[in-house]
Amino acid sequence: MTNSTSGISRRGFLTGAAAAGAIATLGLAGCAPKAQTDAVAEPDAPAAGAAAAPAAAPANDWLGTAPEISDDQIVSTRDCEVLIVGAGMSGIMAAATAADLGVDFILAEKGTEPAASHFDVGAVNSRFTSELTGQTIDKGRILNELNRYASFKNDASVAKTWVEESGPTVEWLQAFYEDKLGACEVTVAVENGGEGDAGGTIYYMPPECHTFLNGEGRNIAHVEAMTEILGQMGHEVDYGYDLVKLIRQDGGRVEGAIFDTADGYVRVNASKGVVLATGGYPANADMVRALNPIVPACVTSTNYNQNNTGMGIKAALWAGADMDKTPAAMIFDRGIVEPGVDAGYTSDGPDAMFATGGQFNLGSQPFLKVSRNGVRIANESCNYDAICHAASNHPGGVWALIMDANAPEDVQRFKSQGCSAGTWKRTLKDKTVDEAYTEKYIDTGLMMKADTLEELADKLGFEGEAKEQFLATIERYNELYDAGEDVDMGKEAYRLSAIRTAPFYGAWFGGALLTTLDGLRINKDTQVLDADANPIEGLCAVGTCSGSYYSGNYPVYLVGNCLGRQITFGRHAVRFLTGDIQA
Ligand SMILES: Cc1cc2nc3c(=O)[nH]c(=O)nc-3n(C[C@H](O)[C@H](O)[C@H](O)COP(=O)(O)OP(=O)(O)OC[C@H]3O[C@@H](n4cnc5c(N)ncnc54)[C@H](O)[C@@H]3O)c2cc1C
Repeated sequence: MTNSTSGISRRGFLTGAAAAGAIATLGLAGCAPKAQTDAVAEPDAPAAGAAAAPAAAPANDWLGTAPEISDDQIVSTRDCEVLIVGAGMSGIMAAATAADLGVDFILAEKGTEPAASHFDVGAVNSRFTSELTGQTIDKGRILNELNRYASFKNDASVAKTWVEESGPTVEWLQAFYEDKLGACEVTVAVENGGEGDAGGTIYYMPPECHTFLNGEGRNIAHVEAMTEILGQMGHEVDYGYDLVKLIRQDGGRVEGAIFDTADGYVRVNASKGVVLATGGYPANADMVRALNPIVPACVTSTNYNQNNTGMGIKAALWAGADMDKTPAAMIFDRGIVEPGVDAGYTSDGPDAMFATGGQFNLGSQPFLKVSRNGVRIANESCNYDAICHAASNHPGGVWALIMDANAPEDVQRFKSQGCSAGTWKRTLKDKTVDEAYTEKYIDTGLMMKADTLEELADKLGFEGEAKEQFLATIERYNELYDAGEDVDMGKEAYRLSAIRTAPFYGAWFGGALLTTLDGLRINKDTQVLDADANPIEGLCAVGTCSGSYYSGNYPVYLVGNCLGRQITFGRHAVRFLTGDIQA
């Protein structure tokens, strides 16, 4: 259920349609804009039989050393108060804050155009929360929920910055848009009334997911909208600025940074500080292999920003920063692949990618999921990355999702949360499986359709003992459904389904990597820390290049908390560096 304020737009062009275009530019998509009718992105079909190459042995030389750049190699030097590196979700928010405060800033971006915008913004107790849902989020409980997801390897004081400031930040952003765009409507999603037994386990699911819409009900594409607004305020993004290194002498404060540009190396001096907002390291396969090995063990789909090679993290490490000790990644269970394709990179080297792109949201539905050997891999009701983690224990790191002709009714009963809910609310609502998926998935050979389970097994590639096991697993699953109790895995009874009514359907999935989530250790004010936990003066990190927040997984039932963190910390960093808030 989504509640919303009402509003009128005079700026229809900064919409979800524009956002979809930005995503399409990359050929990638995540949780699709809510205004679209189909939350499913078309995947690029993998090459037939393209079994992924095994991941190369972890290379520990990913860090390398800072390049030496002499003064005579610098073609120009620029000065500002605050240098923001990266114009994605967190960087653009930092820039909007700086523009609003009248700060002299430079926004340096490696790419040539605005990054893809994302839409679900998690925030705690904004005025919209109470106005639209009548609920108040328990701050202590949500803080501890974040800490529990992270096994307390996060820094609770950093998480608390989001808990305390995300509500006011969302309010500021809505007012900013209303002022600059003429109108801004905010919606707040209510997930399961705030409490949910997902995977047979109770999760806190308070109403913290906010979306920003124009008066026509379409998503505001934040990065594009902000870029446009900044332009109107007289601030241009410096595109084609690729961070090379930070400038820090003898353990002193960070003075600025050097960028590789089309004209040569440009030095930017920042009198008040540098805000790193360069995203995570998903597009640096060497870093992923070395730091986040679960990723190649269960991911089949490339869904991240290709510019995010971890350069901000590397530059800060060269300057004396410390990094999280355990990895985390945002992996959604939606990377559909043809039979025979394994999880993992399809080549060696730092530029390696996964077999496919796009996301098929059906993958998040808690239907029966079986391994290459035909065995059930886990309680399918566990959250997005958890099922991928479970798959990593099985051959190929992939699983087959199995359902029958009653799938549309099943998903209504399952009532999944977050952007997975689009499947039951829109895609399979009042449609048959064939009507929803024939063109994109069945006709393209990604989803198998069969009149018998034997035939389905053959089409999915099960042979010999694996085929026998597959058929036995389905029989067992039907018994569990009849008994109304999942004594094998503990899944909620209402999320069991019978697999008896032809036609039968199956598809192979692995994870879709959206971003890495471990990064530079920071304190509650976003200051980057060194190995002794002392702040490095003049250096802040925000967004997914920063850490101290997640560990091991993404807290998916706190929907949008990643983006909520980006906007909250992007704003906080600039206010902190310019003295608008005190430490
Ligand atoms: C498809 C998709 C959908 C998502 N949807 C959501 C959602 O709805 N809610 C949510 O909470 N999270 C979502 N996420 C997670 C998402 O990644 C983040 O919340 C958010 O985009 C991260 O913001 P960021 O600023 O850290 O990185 P980004 O938004 O990726 O921005 C990083 C920027 O830094 C630039 N950059 C990189 N290297 C350099 C360099 N060397 N020099 C200069 N600039 C550089 C990049 O070009 C980019 O513009 C989604 C992720 C994906 C991939």
